Amino acid sequence: MADPLSEPNAPTGSSDAPPAFAKRSLAAQALGRVDSVTRGVVAPLHVATTFLRDPDNGYSSGFSYARPDNATVREAEAVLAMLEDAAAGALLFGSGMAAATAVFTALEPGDHVVAPRVMYWGLKRWLSAEMPRRRIAVDFVDMDDLAALARAIRPGTTKLVWIETPGNPLWTVTDIAEAARLAHAAGARLAVDSTAASPIHTRPLTLGADLVMHSATKILNGHSDVVAGVLAGATPDAFWERLAAIRSGGGAILGPFEAYLLMRSLRTLPLRVAAQSAGAAELARRFQGHPCVSHVLYPGLPDDPGHAVAARQMEGGFGFMLSIRVRDGEAAAIATAARVRLWKRATSLGGVESLIEHRASVEGPDSPCPPDLLRLSTGIEAVDDLFADLDAALRDA
Ligand SMILES: *Cc1c(COP(=O)(O)O)cnc(C)c1O
Repeated sequence: MADPLSEPNAPTGSSDAPPAFAKRSLAAQALGRVDSVTRGVVAPLHVATTFLRDPDNGYSSGFSYARPDNATVREAEAVLAMLEDAAAGALLFGSGMAAATAVFTALEPGDHVVAPRVMYWGLKRWLSAEMPRRRIAVDFVDMDDLAALARAIRPGTTKLVWIETPGNPLWTVTDIAEAARLAHAAGARLAVDSTAASPIHTRPLTLGADLVMHSATKILNGHSDVVAGVLAGATPDAFWERLAAIRSGGGAILGPFEAYLLMRSLRTLPLRVAAQSAGAAELARRFQGHPCVSHVLYPGLPDDPGHAVAARQMEGGFGFMLSIRVRDGEAAAIATAARVRLWKRATSLGGVESLIEHRASVEGPDSPCPPDLLRLSTGIEAVDDLFADLDAALRDA
C-alpha cells in the first residue's frame, strides 16, 4: 500500500521524500491512512470472516479467512510496529497472556528459559505449571542483578531470556541493553514485557531486544474495555514466522471490534502516557515521607535503586505505575484500600481511571509481593484529588 502520508493531501508537502514525522504525529492520524472507498479519515471496521475467491481460484486481496488475518487488526498492528520500531512488524493476540504464551510455546523440549523472580504473577504461574510438562526448564532470577542473570544463563541451552521492566508490582528496573548482550552472547533471544513502560517511554528493540510483548489491555488501550496483547519483533526470521503460525494455527488473533477500539485508543496514547506518568511521578514525590507510608516504589524517584538504569532507557517519564508500602502493615493496607472514594479498588492497570489494589491477597502465598504493599495505577484525574483521597484513607486506616 502506498504510504498515505506521502500523498499530496498529507500534512506536509513532498511526495518523493519519505515522511519523517514524530511518532506522536503518526499515531494521532493512525499513520494517515484513509478509507479507499469514501476517503474517510478513519479506517472502516472489517468484520468479514470469509472472502470471495477469484475466478482462477486465487485470493488476489490477500485475505481468505479471518482466523489468520484481519484488515482492522492489521491497521492497529501497523501503528504498534511504528511505535516500537519493529522491523518484523507486530502481531495482535486475544490477550496479553495469549501473546506471551505464544513465545514460550515456540520453544522446543530441552530448551532452557530464564525469567524474573518478580514478574506478572499470571505468567509466572503459567510458566511454573506448563513449562515442566513441555520439558522446558525455567529459572527465576532477580533481573535487577545482572550477575545473577549471567550465572543463570546456560550457553547453547538457554534459548530465551524473558524480562519485565519496570517489573510488576515492585517496579524493579532491568537493564535491557545489558540483558540483550548477555542473552545474545549465549545464543538466546531476549523478550521484554514492556507493558508498564509503554512504547512511549521505552523501545526495547532499539536497545537490542528481539521481541517486545505488551498486555494491550493496559495503557495501550487505556480505557479498561478491551482485552488484547501484542508481540513486536526486531527481525522477520524463522522464529517470528513461527509466532505468526502459532497465532494463526491456534486461533489466538484479536477480534476486529477490539482491534478497532484499540486503534482508536492508540491515537491518544502519547497524551495519556504523558499525563498518567506525570501524575504518578507527582504522587510518588508526595507520598515519600508521608507518615503512614514506609516505602514508595517508583523508578522515577532519584533514590530508587532502579533510577540510574531507568533514566538511561526510559524517555519522557518513568511510567504510570507505583506502589506504596503502608507503615502499619497488611491490615492497614487493606483498610486503606477499603476507604478510598476516588481511587477504584480493582485489578488491572493503565486505564484513565486510577486503580488501587492490595496485591499480596491477589497473588497468594507464593507471591514475592510484601503484604503491606498497595499497587497504584495512575489515571488522568486531578492529582490533588488522587492525593487527598488516598491521604485521607491512609490516615483513617
Ligand atoms: C496484565 C498483564 C499481563 C497479562 O495480560 P492480559 O491482557 O491480562 O492477558 C502480562 N504482563 C503484564 C505486565 C500485565 O500487567
